[in-house]
Amino acid sequence: MNITKENDAKNIEKFKDFPLNNEIKRGLSELGFKKPLEVQAKVIPMILAGKDLIVKSQTGSGKTAAFAIPLCQKIDVELMSPQVLVLTPTRELTVQVKEDMANIGKYTGLTFCAVYGNQPMDVQRKELKQKPHVIVATPGRMMDHLKNKNVKLQDIKYLVIDEADEMLIMGFKEQIETILKKVPKERVTLLFSATMPDEINHLSREYMNNPENIEIESEVSTIDKIEQIYYAVDGLKKVDFMKKVIEKENPRKAIMFCNTQEQVDNLFEIFKKWDRSTCAVHGGMDQKIRTEKLNAFKKGEYRMLIATDVAARGLHVQGVTHIINYGVPFEPESYIHRIGRTGRVDERGIAITMVIPSEMERFKALEIFLGYEIPCKGGHVDKRQKSESKNRNGKERFKPTNRKGQKALVQFMAGRDNSALKTSDFLTAVRNVEGIYNADIGKVDIRENITTVEIFDGKEGLVINALKTKKIKGKVYRVKKG
Ligand code: AMP
Repeated sequence: MNITKENDAKNIEKFKDFPLNNEIKRGLSELGFKKPLEVQAKVIPMILAGKDLIVKSQTGSGKTAAFAIPLCQKIDVELMSPQVLVLTPTRELTVQVKEDMANIGKYTGLTFCAVYGNQPMDVQRKELKQKPHVIVATPGRMMDHLKNKNVKLQDIKYLVIDEADEMLIMGFKEQIETILKKVPKERVTLLFSATMPDEINHLSREYMNNPENIEIESEVSTIDKIEQIYYAVDGLKKVDFMKKVIEKENPRKAIMFCNTQEQVDNLFEIFKKWDRSTCAVHGGMDQKIRTEKLNAFKKGEYRMLIATDVAARGLHVQGVTHIINYGVPFEPESYIHRIGRTGRVDERGIAITMVIPSEMERFKALEIFLGYEIPCKGGHVDKRQKSESKNRNGKERFKPTNRKGQKALVQFMAGRDNSALKTSDFLTAVRNVEGIYNADIGKVDIRENITTVEIFDGKEGLVINALKTKKIKGKVYRVKKG
């Protein structure tokens, strides 16, 4: 596999230099796209040439149009049957990709459909029965439609796996593989990802046909356009401190990322009184409200959005000047996706992370992953907190925590009876997770084939991530948030 380092399409200065039909050029000109961005200059000729591709590029680099433009050209408009299937991780991204594709293909006569969870199956079933040329889908909902025989994939010629790393983090691997097995073998597979975890190599070996690897170097410059800093803060003073930082920075448009839905709700309760131009979205909210709030934020009706990763993943919002990480993300990849919401095409941005003492270890691991240090702009950590975090490093004798606070359940699922395992087996596994202390663990409940462990302070992601591939008493469990 060769990595396209040089811009093979250097000579392509304008869209008119590509062999694209006039209908597509008209769509592009209406969108105001004058010249191809780097990812488009590299990817469009390869897709037109019918190659399988693995493209390392971030959202914000112009990757949607990079596949949408050549695919709109390639589809046979006369054949009334789905020919392109795009898989994306979230509902919002599904809707957005479908809209982007429909805008590019506005004058081609092609039809497009988005299917995603939390919307009535029946509405989507009717749309699918119309046999749209392009289906953009979340993997879970696509599987539901396949099970119900609402759609046939026998004419799919192009499968796009968008934000592959995000889909793997979100646990869609199995569904993606099932869908890959259901589409015709004679097809082109295009995989886009901001990072390249090992599982992507597996997917490419198993399901792709000698793919070309393309790396978009401007990714680095996208990151370069973002000033990244952090503040070390006392957990109890974090919100007040954040308000001061926001006052000082006075962002034109900011997204505050939280690790959990509860954090979004709590922060929103505080911020809506402080600054009325704040809105909030997370995966637990009604889809209609989520879409309304996001659209209002995009239009500038709100200046601050408080969100979980899921709700804001891959979104195009022009003019986001500030990203504020209320918590250090559990997955380093999420950090890249979060900060990529700012510093988009032709813009600069600033990404600020609030780090409390118990998150410092995770933050340092993030810096190792990124390969650079993020400068500290000061902060507020009092002595009591410092020593508390030091004490918590000791793995003293365990007593289940029975305290108030944000609590989540982590489920360990076994295919067969796991009741032979003892509480201590699960506790030992959880206590050995980096960054987990006794005070973070609550009750353990062992049932026939599901064991639940209570985890405090939004640390359930740490446990899930660490234990999803580790054996507990010789067995790997399916680990997920309960
Ligand atoms: P994406 O990487 O697909 O998330 O796209 C990022 C943003 O770039 C979107 O808002 C697109 O509308 C915009 N965009 C894509 N291609 C071009 C282009 N050739 N010229 C200007 N803007 C573009």
